[in-house]
Amino acid sequence: MSKYIALPKGVAEVDFDKAIAEFKKILGAGNVLHTRERLAPYLKIMIPAPIEEHTPSAAIMPESVEQIQRILRVCNRYKTPVWPISTGKNFGYGSAAPATRGQIVLDLKRLNRIIEVDPDLCFAVVEPGVTYQQLYDYIKERNLPLWLDPPIPGPVASPLGNTVERGVGYTPYGEHFLFSCGMEVALANGDILRTGMGSMPNSNTWQVFKWGYGPSLDGIFTQSNFGIVTKLGIWLMPAPPAYKPFVVRYPDQADIVKAIETVRPLRIAQVIPNAGTVSNALWELAVANRREDLYTGAGAIPEATVAKLAKAHGVGSWNVYTALYGTEETIAEHWKIVTAAFKASGGTVLTQEDVGPDDPLFNYRRDVMRGEMTMREFGLYNWRGGGGSMWFAPVSQARGSETMKQMGLAKKVLNKYGIDYVGLFVIGWRDMHHIIDILYDRTLPAEMEKARSCYSELLDDFAREGYGVYRTNIDFMDKVAKLYGPVKASVNHKIKKALDPNGILAPGKSGIHR
Ligand code: ADP
Repeated sequence: MSKYIALPKGVAEVDFDKAIAEFKKILGAGNVLHTRERLAPYLKIMIPAPIEEHTPSAAIMPESVEQIQRILRVCNRYKTPVWPISTGKNFGYGSAAPATRGQIVLDLKRLNRIIEVDPDLCFAVVEPGVTYQQLYDYIKERNLPLWLDPPIPGPVASPLGNTVERGVGYTPYGEHFLFSCGMEVALANGDILRTGMGSMPNSNTWQVFKWGYGPSLDGIFTQSNFGIVTKLGIWLMPAPPAYKPFVVRYPDQADIVKAIETVRPLRIAQVIPNAGTVSNALWELAVANRREDLYTGAGAIPEATVAKLAKAHGVGSWNVYTALYGTEETIAEHWKIVTAAFKASGGTVLTQEDVGPDDPLFNYRRDVMRGEMTMREFGLYNWRGGGGSMWFAPVSQARGSETMKQMGLAKKVLNKYGIDYVGLFVIGWRDMHHIIDILYDRTLPAEMEKARSCYSELLDDFAREGYGVYRTNIDFMDKVAKLYGPVKASVNHKIKKALDPNGILAPGKSGIHR
């Protein structure tokens, strides 16, 4: 019996002992965790995979880049793999657990310095452990007219962690990687790379010009295991003088077509500038209710019941939440264009005045679309209860007929497994991130098995139609990588071998192994 709760693949316990001893020398014993008790925070996942397949062997917590470099030297010597996390929230994608059993979680939460916030050029430079809340407080305390763009887990998540995972938020800066500029990366051999202009000694243009000279490298450090990102520049939105959020509710399922056809031209032309959302009735209901209070029958909730519930609760079959940003004058002009378009499409346009001051769903969207900190969407986890959630997130064209087709594909599979279609489209520039929350009871093994099979089948059915997901959880990384084809996999593999010949960085991340 090993004294560890897991060991890295192919590493003998005596070697692991030596590596642990060296980590303790570098970090102090208190920052090297390897008992089950102390590893508990890294063992809690929401995806339907047995935790045994993703149990880490240890977790280590450096506080500087120099300590990371020393850790990497030890890892190369003993071939012990590390799985870097920033704040490790990543709910519904694997939380803080590694892709494969036995990896050491490299928890970067102690690297939590806000290096710089520039109020003129509107950017920040942050370390991995900085949370949205921390950056928000920093900006508020200094009274800077800058907005953040939090994703769903908002306050507790990390701008750096979310951006390297290519997450999204809901303001005009919603596509996080697009609005990042300049990375510092610790490579497996301990070299420190600064991307773009950051490679120039004494550069002060690192956070203002992305491309630098030669091949642009930032992208290869997102959703990847080619390096550990230790600093990130993010652009911040200047707070506009005026802001007008609104919702457009549509009564019928098929109205998604009209909704998207109306949104697309306005979004591409930047009349509507933000990554708003188009949520279905069950999403709205699930954020604010428990399923058993609304429906107790077996299987997925039938369409007719959803329609009745939507009516009773005053939500649309589809609900478009977007906003206008600018001055009172520009907003007044755009408001005419927007309301005319949505009314012509059969939607009911509602503002704060229409819904009143206390509508929790409206207020939640109002807040996230201006970068406020809220945890409201966590309400989804109470819908079923039992702690199970996994995001299925295929990319769609921003075209009504396409969203309709994807919804049909998804419902067919979900219904088969008795899982509700809790779906939302995030409005990209020309795409929609189709986000489906697979909510299930993780305390019931049969439910867990169903959710796992359901996800796998969704991937296959969507891939058959040419659709892929924008991101996946630690349990399906190999499968999704395979669906993206052999040439992509081969290029990834070559880069991996060149940058990390010992395979010490996050083996299995995005399906990339040594
Ligand atoms: P958040 O808490 O913001 O949701 P996480 O810290 O959970 O983000 O990070 C999400 C994923 O991104 C991790 O599982 C890991 O694969 C990757 N990741 C996070 N931080 C880094 C980093 N500093 N360098 C490289 N990859 C990272």
